[in-house]
Amino acid sequence: MGADRARVVVVGAGIAGVACGAELARAGVPVRIYERARVAGGRMASKRFDGRPADLGAAYFTVSDPDFARVVRGWEAAGLAREWTDTFVAYSADGRREAPGPVRWAAPRGLRSLVEHLAADLPVAVDRLVLGVEPGPHVDGERCAAVALALPGPQAALLLDPALAAATAAVAAQRWSSTLSGVLRFPARSWPAFRGAFVNDHPLLRLVCDDGDRRGDGAPVLVAHTTPGFAAGHLAQPTGAAPAVEQAVRDLLALPERAAHVHVHRWTYAMPAAPAGDATYHLDADGIGLAGDAFGAPRVQTAWRSGRDLGRDLAARLRP
Ligand SMILES: Cc1cc2nc3c(=O)[nH]c(=O)nc-3n(C[C@H](O)[C@H](O)[C@H](O)COP(=O)(O)OP(=O)(O)OC[C@H]3O[C@@H](n4cnc5c(N)ncnc54)[C@H](O)[C@@H]3O)c2cc1C
Repeated sequence: MGADRARVVVVGAGIAGVACGAELARAGVPVRIYERARVAGGRMASKRFDGRPADLGAAYFTVSDPDFARVVRGWEAAGLAREWTDTFVAYSADGRREAPGPVRWAAPRGLRSLVEHLAADLPVAVDRLVLGVEPGPHVDGERCAAVALALPGPQAALLLDPALAAATAAVAAQRWSSTLSGVLRFPARSWPAFRGAFVNDHPLLRLVCDDGDRRGDGAPVLVAHTTPGFAAGHLAQPTGAAPAVEQAVRDLLALPERAAHVHVHRWTYAMPAAPAGDATYHLDADGIGLAGDAFGAPRVQTAWRSGRDLGRDLAARLRP
């Protein structure tokens, strides 16, 4: 890694990439973040329906790391994040019970607003699909001091030149599963308060959340996440899964009326399996870094910490 070469390129403006970029910028290391989508956020995705955002990816986040807690307090002070609930319900073959747990946090304007807040002063180039990372390192032919790949391993694998053997091996070791997210918009709220529901031993559903409750506006919107097994059969045509997702949610919650609109989003790489080691990121002699939620429990906090730690290590090596 040569400090003489221009800058670090971060690929991916999810929370890991933005945390990495923020750490580099704070240390005075030139950085640029390339994001293929029109907006930052990644799997902390919020999509607008008739002007109202619904959370399509992460359902909420939890906080146990003191450093992440400081970030969360910043979001809270800005009016962007709020404590939602510490009690969901859990459905299983035995029926329904209360499921107390850690405090879950939600974002009134959608979880994507939190990533955008962290990225506000960073040079994020959106609509910028990266096609290849080659030795040098180079990103699409552009020489840089180092590259931070802050995206699911299978997406990073598509970019990596096989000569970058250490990073190629690291991403090949990751295992990912898929999920479909169904956003169900109803004419009116017709369910008893439940906030969020874990669904155990169900062939189709894994989680159902009351989006109006977590957002705090009371909108009659539910968001359901499917099991990996169900998602795997619908990746080619996710919209075809809408009737089954709607029916499963109505059966679970005994809803009397049909949804007015159902949108299904495909997450081909939704969740990584827990890693073998306890490294929070990867950085090798080729100048290739990897960060994201594959370095720990598949959670927002893990992704943030991974990006922050990679950014810190890169900054220590490259600080002007
Ligand atoms: C359905 C679902 C439910 C979840 N529920 C929870 C939850 O309740 N609680 C929780 O804590 N976590 C949850 N998670 C996990 C959480 O969303 C992730 O841990 C976190 O958002 C990962 O952030 P990241 O930055 O590592 O990756 P990502 O958010 O995936 O960011 C990667 C970015 O890279 C971009 N990209 C990909 N390829 C390229 C390319 N070639 N060029 C440029 N850019 C590229 C992508 O567009 C994306 O923006 C959930 C995830 C899903 C999908």
